[in-house]
Amino acid sequence: MSAVTVRVPAKVNLQLGVGPIRDDGYHDLVNVFHAVSLFDEVTVETAAAPEVRVQAAPYSRVSVADVPADQDNLAARAARLVAARLGVDAHAAIRIRKAIPVAGGMAGGSADAAAALVACARLWDDRDEPVLNRADLVELGAELGSDVPFAVLGGTAVGVGRGERLTPALTRGTFHWVFATADGGLSTPAVYAECDRLRAEEGAPDAGDAGGAPAARVSEPLMTALATGDAKGLGAALTNDLEAAALALRPSLGRVLDAGRDHGAVGALVSGSGPTCAFLAEDEEDAADLAEGLDGARVAAQVLRAYGPVPGAMVV
Ligand code: ATP
Repeated sequence: MSAVTVRVPAKVNLQLGVGPIRDDGYHDLVNVFHAVSLFDEVTVETAAAPEVRVQAAPYSRVSVADVPADQDNLAARAARLVAARLGVDAHAAIRIRKAIPVAGGMAGGSADAAAALVACARLWDDRDEPVLNRADLVELGAELGSDVPFAVLGGTAVGVGRGERLTPALTRGTFHWVFATADGGLSTPAVYAECDRLRAEEGAPDAGDAGGAPAARVSEPLMTALATGDAKGLGAALTNDLEAAALALRPSLGRVLDAGRDHGAVGALVSGSGPTCAFLAEDEEDAADLAEGLDGARVAAQVLRAYGPVPGAMVV
C-alpha cells in the first residue's frame, strides 16, 4: 500500500461554553461537538524524499489561499507525529481537497490533522500487530490541537478541559443544517481575546477580569433534545459564548443570523469562532427552503447544506 485517502467531517459546536482562563492560558471549556456532512479529503502517499510535502486544492468554491503549505500545515505536523511515535521516517506527500471553509469556525485544519493521523497510521503501522489504535490516535490528536481528537472520533460528543477530553453523547436520528459561509476568516485567538475584553468591560459576575468568568456547564435541555431527536428543542438550546465576540469583530454576521431566523431556522448561531453561521432546520424539507431563502437574501458567500451526526475520519 503506498497511498491512503481519508474523508473527515467539519464540526459545529452545539454548545460552546467558555469558562475561566486557566493558568496555562487556555480557557476551561464545555464544548458539545457535532460532526456534519461537509468533508475534506486527505490523501497521504509514501514519498521517496525524506520529507513531508503538502498541497491543498479546493473542492467546490472554498478558497485555499490561507492554507499553509508544508511544515506549518496541521496535516504535516500530524504525519510527523505519527512517524515519530512509530519510529519510522516521515516520507509523505499529502494532498488535501478542501470543502470545509478555512478559518471558518468549523475546525477544518483540525479535521485535516485528524485525517492525516488516520491515513499515516494505516500507511506506516504494522497491520499484523498495529501499535496505534483509534483511541491512541484520539490521544495523539490532543497534542496537535484541542479540536483534533473530536475530528478523529466524530458523531456528537461533549468535550471538557480545553475541549479535548471527550465523552460521546447520546443522539437520536439526523439533524438537518444549513451553513452560511463568509468571505475572509476570523482568527480563533482574536475571537477569544475579544471575548475576554468584552467580559472584562462588562465586569464578569464574580471578579473584575475575564479570568473570573463562572465555570461552564453542559446544558441539560440540549442533551435531552439530542437524545430524543427533537430539532426544535435543540434549536432553542444552541449556545455559543464566543458569539458576542465574533459579532463585535464582524457586525455583518447579525444580518446573516436574522436572515436565517426569518427563513424558518429553528436555531441559529455563529459556528465556533465564526464567521460561518449555522442554522438548524426542523426537517430535510425545511432545510431546503431555508437554504433557498438564505441564498436569495444574498448575505452569505456560500450557502451549504449538511446533516449530522456523521462519523469521524474514515479511510475511503
Ligand atoms: P477552529 O474552528 O478549530 O477554531 P477554524 O475552522 O476557524 O478553526 P481552520 O480552517 O482550522 O480554522 O484554520 C485556522 C488556521 O489554521 C488557518 O488560518 C491556517 O493558517 C491554519 N492551518 C493549518 N493547517 C491547516 C489546514 N490543513 N487547513 C486549514 N488551515 C490550516
